[in-house]
Amino acid sequence: MTGSQYRSGVPDNWFVDPVQLGVPGVRRVVEGDDTQLAWQTDALCSQTDPEAFFPEKGGSTRDAKRICASCDVRTECLEYALHNDERFGIWGGLSERERRKLKRQAS
Ligand code: SF4
Repeated sequence: MTGSQYRSGVPDNWFVDPVQLGVPGVRRVVEGDDTQLAWQTDALCSQTDPEAFFPEKGGSTRDAKRICASCDVRTECLEYALHNDERFGIWGGLSERERRKLKRQAS
């Protein structure tokens, strides 16, 4: 699956192909796999519509945030987004504006 089948707001590299990652919740052990994105194996959003996580400007983020609230890797996801300065989309249950605010409060 590539981002190209989604509308332009969804980055091509948003997600590693779930087929490559294996079954959600069952992490494949790959020797030497220490990628920053290993947590995405357990990401709930990999099983849903990615466009909910990259809404059009002014679009609702409610559905995405509801999914994030039940996600086991919410902390890892948010840390990744903050560390990599992700500008778009919902990560770890927070919008871009909410992540900016969190960063300001932390500094
Ligand atoms: S916290 Fe939300 S955006 Fe992050 S991996 Fe989980 S479902 Fe996806």
